[in-house]
Amino acid sequence: MAKLTDEISKRRTFAIISHPDAGKTTLTEKFLLYGGAIALAGSVKGKKTARHAVSDWMEIEKQRGISVTSSVLQFSYGGYCINILDTPGHQDFSEDTYRTLMAADSAVMVIDASKGVENQTRKLFKVCVMRHIPIFTFINKMDREARDPYELLEEIEGELGIATYPMNWPVGCGKEFKGVYDRGAGQMISFTANNGQREVAATAAAVDDPGLGALIGEDFAETLRGDVELLDGASAEFDLEAVQAGRLSPVFFGSALTNFGVEPFLKDFLRLTPPPLPRVCDEGEIDPFSPDFSAFVFKIQANMNKAHRDRIAFMRICSGKFEKSMEVLHVQGDKKMRLLQPQQMMAQEREVIDEAYAGDIIGVFDPGIFSIGDTICSPNRKIRFDGIPTFAPEHFARVRQLDTLKRKQFVKGTSQIAQEGAIQIFREPGKGMEEVIVGVVGTLQFDVLEYRLKNEYGVEIRLEMLSYQHLRWIEETPVEPKKLKITSDTKVVQDFKDNYLLLFTDTWNINWALDKNEGLRLAEFSR
Ligand code: GDP
Repeated sequence: MAKLTDEISKRRTFAIISHPDAGKTTLTEKFLLYGGAIALAGSVKGKKTARHAVSDWMEIEKQRGISVTSSVLQFSYGGYCINILDTPGHQDFSEDTYRTLMAADSAVMVIDASKGVENQTRKLFKVCVMRHIPIFTFINKMDREARDPYELLEEIEGELGIATYPMNWPVGCGKEFKGVYDRGAGQMISFTANNGQREVAATAAAVDDPGLGALIGEDFAETLRGDVELLDGASAEFDLEAVQAGRLSPVFFGSALTNFGVEPFLKDFLRLTPPPLPRVCDEGEIDPFSPDFSAFVFKIQANMNKAHRDRIAFMRICSGKFEKSMEVLHVQGDKKMRLLQPQQMMAQEREVIDEAYAGDIIGVFDPGIFSIGDTICSPNRKIRFDGIPTFAPEHFARVRQLDTLKRKQFVKGTSQIAQEGAIQIFREPGKGMEEVIVGVVGTLQFDVLEYRLKNEYGVEIRLEMLSYQHLRWIEETPVEPKKLKITSDTKVVQDFKDNYLLLFTDTWNINWALDKNEGLRLAEFSR
């Protein structure tokens, strides 16, 4: 029992969210370096080879050198057992990216200091807010030309609607980057580039230290004194409760590439971020420390082995301990079973595991029975976790099969791929399944769909891109959906649970529909 409590209290499970190129990979790699998981940062990538090593499952990944799905890395540091959930970016951005956030207890938001808040960060941030998880900000690339720090904080507050608390404050940037002032310690830490090394040997001085000018230059020292006074006087108090409720984001400035400010960030982050949080099920909150095992599926990875049409279901453990070959209950299937080939990612290696604890993520062999959101638990305690929301896709295409004789395979293929959660399928009311509208969060999923239908189901399709960009579920409507007053380029569709939805080309049309139909309520995701 004591071991269980001890193991679970050590867990920290978080996701790193960012726009491509902000420095997520570099920061993760430096974290791994501190965790001793790799000997020298920089030895992990070439990004392409690293990604290959992690997932060489699908031919399409090999062809393009990209990873279609996200993975989890586990390592230890300072007495903590850390699980980093990777949120895929670039063109492999997909619903998986959103769903991964459902398995996290907190998020680290990496922002490029020269760019500020970018599109993909904005989207991922919304999901974090929906879950009220703590969000920590790392403003990266201070060794390059950066925007004014006050302006960056204002942008985060204004665009994302979260208060900020600078934990440290940068002095200069780019060639003139002098380091950061650690507000907690009341010390200036001067910048030294430490690419590839673990230890950051920095010199420190207090603001009233007469040596400060010599360390960073008189002008910078003067500016810093002014900034510190301003920050101490003007900014909000540090409020841990607000941080843990996701209302206040502690902000750190640094440079992942030169390994400056990374370890102090990691230390503070681990100190302030929560251990596994209770999850809500039909019986209320489940205590992560309770001895009964429970977990939910948040991602399904298809076709690890083409010959067998295998899948791997990734689940987040919510309570208790998982032991290899223990008997569990798959609640949605109402079946007792043993989970096969449980595995975890340790640094860059995939390993078969014997045990795992609340907070951990495991992947198990799935013979095609699990769906996203399913609950797996000890047979003596049947519970059902709240489902994972379906996020609105942003790209749409009309999909037709080319060979009408293969209707059955087409229906089976699209339905199965939709069940795994890679795509969403819709139909126009009154129409059958021969022609569907497919919605995806990232356009790569269209290629994946085409490839998989052909290779696994022998069905050739034609994709016709549609100009819709926004999808909304109709939550309440004053009239039958078909009778709503909508513009000619808005479309009524149904999902396969027969819910009605509206497809819009732009936000102007959304507002038009809301204006003209009193009582119409639309939602961006469906529960
Ligand atoms: P990701 O797409 O968010 O994973 O970004 P990467 O970690 O791959 O970084 C994108 C590029 O920015 C790479 O060329 C990195 O070497 C570079 N980079 C990352 N962090 C820093 C930094 O702190 N300073 C500088 N100058 N470059 C950085």
